[in-house]
Amino acid sequence: MYKLAVFGNPIEHSLSPDIHAQFAQQTGVEVDYQKILAPVNDFSQFATAFIHKGASGFNVTVPFKLDAFNFATELTLNAKTAGAVNTIKIQGSKIIGENTDGIGLVNDLTNHLNIELENKVVLILGAGGATQGILLPILSKNPKRVMIANRTASKAEKLARDFAKYGKTCGFGLDKIKDDPVDIIINATSASLAGKMPDIASGCANHAICYDLMYGQQTPFMDWAKANNAAVIADGLGMLVEQAASSFEFWTGAKPDTRTVIKNLRS
Ligand code: NDP
Repeated sequence: MYKLAVFGNPIEHSLSPDIHAQFAQQTGVEVDYQKILAPVNDFSQFATAFIHKGASGFNVTVPFKLDAFNFATELTLNAKTAGAVNTIKIQGSKIIGENTDGIGLVNDLTNHLNIELENKVVLILGAGGATQGILLPILSKNPKRVMIANRTASKAEKLARDFAKYGKTCGFGLDKIKDDPVDIIINATSASLAGKMPDIASGCANHAICYDLMYGQQTPFMDWAKANNAAVIADGLGMLVEQAASSFEFWTGAKPDTRTVIKNLRS
């Protein structure tokens, strides 16, 4: 029996227990996956107590991804470059920190939307934690160029510099986005959470694949993509399921069928 959980604050809304229960049923792996509400300033004490109860690992969501990064005794390259951890695996005395968010996005694009990143021009809106987490997995697929545009230009410029060793990157302010089409636009701002769409040049969406990391509702970014002739419009539900599948495989070695789970969640 794998003793697992997701830590967050708030955590009530989390779909992870449902997703992992479906994975367990499919694969025949026995899993006990709980939701744990940890106090904002006490992540490590709660995580330690869970480990002492025999945990095999756990997921971490807002606001604990940085706490989990610091809590881990070892980090994967994904976790190191993301600067954040969403998955912890307990292996003897080792606490291994991984970040599956970016792999989740890339797997959703390739497995469910049939989109290859190789040789594509990718525009990412936002330069926060989610962008930092998806950059290495995206760049490892050899896109032609990854452009990072952010409200605070300096953050986009810094990420572009930090990741330049993994591929062709550039960073600038949202106001510098040109009207020229790109292949893929990824909305990694949290503007959708506030029901907003940044005011950017619209020509870049023409025939583009437009992907919002947010899920659960039609977002202003998705409306904007539709109004500006995007070829494909997607939300981040597939990414959520794929990052969960990647965590599940990291803990148990079993590979779940994500397509069925995405279909179940959508219905
Ligand atoms: P952060 O708080 O780290 O970063 C937020 C980013 O959004 C910053 O770049 C910020 O710009 C920008 N931003 C916020 N409001 C606006 C606005 N009104 N106009 C323009 N830019 C804005 O958040 P995260 O990176 O952690 O998360 C981003 C999104 O990704 C969230 O919607 C989250 O739910 C989603 N997500 C989805 C996942 C999935 O599995 N589908 C996984 C992880 C995240 P500035 O730097 O100027 O403040």
